[in-house]
Amino acid sequence: MTSVCDYLIVGQGIAGTVLALMLEKKGKSVFIIDKFSIHSSSQVAAGLVNPITGRRIVKSWMADEALPDAFQFYFEFEKEFGEKVFHSIDALEVTSSVHEYNEWTRRMDEQNLQHYFRQDAPNELYRGKIRDFIKLVRITSSGWLDIPRFTSIVRKKFLASNLIKDELFEQDQLKVEESGISYEGLFAKRIIFCEGYKCLENKFWEYIPLIPAKGEIVVIECKGLPQEFILLSGMFIIPIGNDQFRCGATYEWKFENELPTESGKSKLLEMLNNVLKTEFKIIEHTSGVRPTVKDRRPILGQHPDHQNVFIFNGLGTKGVSLTPYFANHFIEHLENDARLMSEVDVGRFSSMKN
Ligand SMILES: Cc1cc2nc3c(=O)[nH]c(=O)nc-3n(C[C@H](O)[C@H](O)[C@H](O)COP(=O)(O)OP(=O)(O)OC[C@H]3O[C@@H](n4cnc5c(N)ncnc54)[C@H](O)[C@@H]3O)c2cc1C
Repeated sequence: MTSVCDYLIVGQGIAGTVLALMLEKKGKSVFIIDKFSIHSSSQVAAGLVNPITGRRIVKSWMADEALPDAFQFYFEFEKEFGEKVFHSIDALEVTSSVHEYNEWTRRMDEQNLQHYFRQDAPNELYRGKIRDFIKLVRITSSGWLDIPRFTSIVRKKFLASNLIKDELFEQDQLKVEESGISYEGLFAKRIIFCEGYKCLENKFWEYIPLIPAKGEIVVIECKGLPQEFILLSGMFIIPIGNDQFRCGATYEWKFENELPTESGKSKLLEMLNNVLKTEFKIIEHTSGVRPTVKDRRPILGQHPDHQNVFIFNGLGTKGVSLTPYFANHFIEHLENDARLMSEVDVGRFSSMKN
């Protein structure tokens, strides 16, 4: 095989997928290499979008800028491909004390947060179905992306034009030159690594302080629970149709492998029993590893020593909300030399490279 393209993308999680689609829209040619894994973060993620960070009741970082881009991107995708992938539904935060509810109402009145709340929370719909609560707080601009469906639609599209290979990218086969990179007969002007937490094994990026955070998730069947809203109560309970709900998630910073564990399942069961009064049964249990960073900011930009080698990673717990905005931002940088926000520029870790 000898072919030429503008960008070789390694990894087709949500990062590589959105980047590939956007680059194509700009008229760039793209080739993807991705070793599909059911345990990749994107295949496991619940896909939740939530503009408010619950515990501290603050706006999620960049919510005002990133969420409109995310909504627009996923809706346009649905229109173009004729498939439903993004479910825009309100979320309900369950408050369990008067103090907690008062804190929420205080924040709901603040100018910069007001538009993320609605006053008509369906309290009575949930009485008797979830544990005793004071009131529900209704959050808008939320929803969930069916990431596996989204990435699989895009995979099929690239497969149909022979522009994706399902295999492990072998770094030893990569040659980086002044004019571009070559890899097993493929020549690309640039390579972008979108490998999620596996970037820890990548010799170009091993200096980046990525912190892998394992998460487990369950799908339950719960016939008595309303399906119109996402419930938030120290965990998320997302209706996915047919009386099923995706619920999670756990956080584990020390782990042996990517696989689901009995202790993870017990933790999730305990969390669910603390929220639900309605009977439920677990029908699926999965796990994956999030690519998180201590400063909780995405990582994008150019390798300090190689002008044709780039990274798009560090999406942490917010891949669905942040990816479209930052893929756009990244492409402006790649194609039009726009300056990267210093907060997300991979250059912030340059001093760690010896
Ligand atoms: C339990 C759990 C729940 C989550 N819930 C949410 C949520 O509700 N909302 C949200 O926004 N985010 C959530 N996340 C986080 C979200 O999954 C991540 O932000 C996002 O998926 C990261 O995407 P990525 O494309 O960077 O990496 P990944 O999804 O890990 O994709 C990387 C891809 O690259 C491939 N790859 C890696 N190395 C190579 C190589 N050398 N050769 C070939 N292929 C390679 C991998 O196999 C994979 O396909 C959750 C994560 C977990 C684990």
